[in-house]
Amino acid sequence: MSRKNIIAANWKMNMGPSETAAFLDPFLKSFPEATSVDIVLAPPFVSLAKAAKLMAGNSAVALSAQNMSQEASGAYTGEINSAMLKEIGCKYVILGHSERRSIYGEDDVVINKKVHAALAAGLIPILCIGESLEERDGGQLEFVLSRQLEGSLDGVDAEQMAGIVVAYEPVWAIGTGRTASPGQAQETQAYVRSVVERLFGAAVAAAVRIQYGGSVKPGNAAELIGQPDIDGFLVGGASLDPTSFAEIVKAGL
Ligand code: PEP
Repeated sequence: MSRKNIIAANWKMNMGPSETAAFLDPFLKSFPEATSVDIVLAPPFVSLAKAAKLMAGNSAVALSAQNMSQEASGAYTGEINSAMLKEIGCKYVILGHSERRSIYGEDDVVINKKVHAALAAGLIPILCIGESLEERDGGQLEFVLSRQLEGSLDGVDAEQMAGIVVAYEPVWAIGTGRTASPGQAQETQAYVRSVVERLFGAAVAAAVRIQYGGSVKPGNAAELIGQPDIDGFLVGGASLDPTSFAEIVKAGL
């Protein structure tokens, strides 16, 4: 089955509204209309409105948030809910990024609640999973990925799963300049797909898009995306520059 590549920029706590506008001006000119890749930008919350305004009329690039609350509304100071993200024009939401897990203590139970809240609102989750170096070196890779998928996808049905995007991001490769080798990434992505198959069946596993993330750059994107189980990227550092992110997108065309 051929799956459409999806390449997403995770800007993390970078790019306020004016920097977002400065990025979008050249970037949208590079991709004025829909291409064979789904392109996704995830600015910080405060830049979403600006990005949505500038992206209006562009069919190539879709908007994502980097996180959201699992709660519907109410007394949750500092939080943003799924309805607000929909209203502002988000199509996707990144959930369970390793920085949310390690810095803010999000576990699979919380992430699972967020997945259900996103699906209920019509947002597409980009669900991040990945192992630490200690876990990989300690022979825990498959156990950790399997546990993360089972926990964060608990109660999700096969139809919902077919639309979810999974981002496999080895924690040791995020922001470190150290990338998984194409062979290492492929082997692990294939394992992730096998877990999806065990949980949701072969048809869903064949359809679900699994991104790779971890120090993807213009120089390594083509070789990585040539691997059969890599269906796109979640890109941090190299997505902050419009030229570099455009080159990564072009590797997936
Ligand atoms: C990320 O934060 O999801 C990521 C992959 O970052 P980087 O590309 O900088 O490693």
